[in-house]
Amino acid sequence: MRKPIIAGNWKMYKTLSEAIDFVKMVKSSIPSTDQVDSVICAPSLFLPTLVKEADGSTLAIGAQTMHYEEEGAFTGEISPSQLEDIKVQYVILGHSERRQYDNETDEGVNKKAHAAFSHHLTPIICVGETLEEREASNTVVKVSSQVGAALKGLSVEQIAKTVIAYEPIWAIGTGKTATAHDANEVCKAIRNTVKEIAGDVAAESIRIQYGGSVKPENVVELLSMEHIDGALVGGASLKPDSYLKLLEAGANA
Ligand code: PGA
Repeated sequence: MRKPIIAGNWKMYKTLSEAIDFVKMVKSSIPSTDQVDSVICAPSLFLPTLVKEADGSTLAIGAQTMHYEEEGAFTGEISPSQLEDIKVQYVILGHSERRQYDNETDEGVNKKAHAAFSHHLTPIICVGETLEEREASNTVVKVSSQVGAALKGLSVEQIAKTVIAYEPIWAIGTGKTATAHDANEVCKAIRNTVKEIAGDVAAESIRIQYGGSVKPENVVELLSMEHIDGALVGGASLKPDSYLKLLEAGANA
């Protein structure tokens, strides 16, 4: 039985004071980690403050990206050791917006996944197809190749602990969601890819989220699907009441 994981991806939204208010409002209502893993991936600028604010609660804080190098002359970047040092627990890797606007490549995502595990960070690795790829029936080929590239060289134990977020690019921030059935089919194909790479145990353990216009109104159906173990949520994670409803759905899934 895989524990659901609900992660908010705040992208480039909120001021620091709004972020602090959010955590103050939700932290006493976060469900137990026996039921669901609850994560907020915030802008890097807020991370140390939010980790302190969430301390003593079951809310985990994640980053939205990082560099793969330990340190170096990489202006504007954040290293895995810097995230580990401030007790960040998760990091989103390969989000389609970073692949599109910041030249994030499969190879880079793979290096970052290795770096994450060297620093006790759980990677949330995003994969997904464009509308053109979906219409050309290339969805499974595309996501399987992204998954294979991202997991290259990781141990079976590391793969088992990885979180994969299947996010069809055409469904992100558009209000269009894949049907629960279609999303489940792709998540099943991802699990099969993991099985080919790392065997049954890793495939049964790895958690696969769906992302793309998830909200309280559709999350229950998505989470009821066999191969969907959680959600990566942008817009609907920005308001405390909506975020808490998503967590409640995760806790009851
Ligand atoms: P959305 O974003 O929920 O606003 O569609 C999801 C994401 O980009 O992770």
